[in-house]
Amino acid sequence: MSNFHSTKQYEEIVHTKLHDKQMRENLKSGMRTLKKNRKNTIANRYKDWEALRELGRKVKQNALAKLPELLERFEQNAIKNGFKVHWASDAKEANEVILALMHKNDANIILKGKSMASEEIHLNHYLQEHSIDAKETDLGELIIQLIDEPPVHIVVPAIHKNRYEVRDIFNDKLGAGLKDEDAESIETLNGVARGHLRQKFKDFKIGLSGVNFAIADEGAIWLIENEGNGRMSTTACDIHIAICGIEKIVESFEDASILDMLLVPSATGANISCYNNIIAHPRQKGELDGPKEVHIILLDNNRSKILADSHYYRSLSCIRCGTCLNHCPVYDKIGGHAYLSTYPGPIGEVVSPQIFGIDNCAPMLNLCSLCGRCSEVCPVKIPLAELIRDLRSEKAGEGRGGVVGYANVHRNALERRSFAVFTYIATSGFMWRITASMVRIFGGMGKIFGGIIPGLNSWLRYRAYPDLDASLHANLKKMQGVIYE
Ligand code: SF4
Repeated sequence: MSNFHSTKQYEEIVHTKLHDKQMRENLKSGMRTLKKNRKNTIANRYKDWEALRELGRKVKQNALAKLPELLERFEQNAIKNGFKVHWASDAKEANEVILALMHKNDANIILKGKSMASEEIHLNHYLQEHSIDAKETDLGELIIQLIDEPPVHIVVPAIHKNRYEVRDIFNDKLGAGLKDEDAESIETLNGVARGHLRQKFKDFKIGLSGVNFAIADEGAIWLIENEGNGRMSTTACDIHIAICGIEKIVESFEDASILDMLLVPSATGANISCYNNIIAHPRQKGELDGPKEVHIILLDNNRSKILADSHYYRSLSCIRCGTCLNHCPVYDKIGGHAYLSTYPGPIGEVVSPQIFGIDNCAPMLNLCSLCGRCSEVCPVKIPLAELIRDLRSEKAGEGRGGVVGYANVHRNALERRSFAVFTYIATSGFMWRITASMVRIFGGMGKIFGGIIPGLNSWLRYRAYPDLDASLHANLKKMQGVIYE
């Protein structure tokens, strides 16, 4: 399956999404609620959120600095606990491990708790090609699976659908027979999903989940969720498979607890998640339930290349809370599908080019205004805007050159020439003054003719022509004490 997406494809999907009024309305309302809840929880429940963020940054920094050692420690302890550990260098290897387990256990259906790593490796599609049914059990994931869409958000996969649309989806795809007024009751909608999923949970052999934190000192994994489907998928089965990106390793329970305190309010605004599943071993002798086997797949998929880069390694600190998406003024206009990647929004722009290759998704780096809100809210203080800006340099062929796919990036000649001209003007006092004077005299004409000037017309397609004020140098000259050269 090709991952390449051209600038034209990005332009088309952004255009479509910008005109999808219903989706924009749904996203706006969802983002507003998530942001408000986060703000209230942080203000009312935390004494010093900034100090906690700094602690979280250090925890992840420590884990990344020692990652090879912690991975080995995790593996040894996990094996001692009775887990089976698999290493997967890429998506293909991870998929093959899962397929082999399905075949070995003669299973043709797998029930999944929410897992972005499984989205990253396109597991459902791969299993489908091998006649295996992968069923989503997270409510949001179930909704989008029914309409064959990928998640729109890393935490809330169906946030672009409102309750009336969900009612129609359940009627069309599950024959739920809901009446119009049933959409008013979230309990009724939940009841449909619950009834549908309970049947599946009655009789299944293999369940799959992601991992929030893998704790090296204990050889245990920690899953956070709110619906209970994660617990069902990991305990009611005979075999539990957990896919864990290698950056999910932390050293101790204390470290994981600090990240948990940052993750939950950032993700949903809740103080604590409804379910915390800390899985330390498979079913023990004498225990009545729990899986007989637990397999943990440690997924690399270019993460070790990111780790090796002294600059971009910081992107591996992400705890997938999604708050950078919720605060992004671009994301809430176009939604996650417009990024054409498993990981959308600010964190998506940082990790997607590094995981899937910058040659495959370079145009997504333009879906950012560099306002910096994402960096301000990130609970582990990843400098997202700075990393996006630096990745733009990689895209333009002027970066550090180490990002996957760097050599194959299609470089836009017009963009390069425009920036070369801008650099020339901006670094020469004389040229800057001349340009500023020209803008002052002729700038207003852009308002009239902008629609027919190549380059400017595509920029103006979704933007209002700004009121240009190029009189800064004239004003500066008048200021007392300013020597203007
Ligand atoms: S980059 Fe930060 S804000 Fe964005 S999802 Fe990751 S942890 Fe959350």
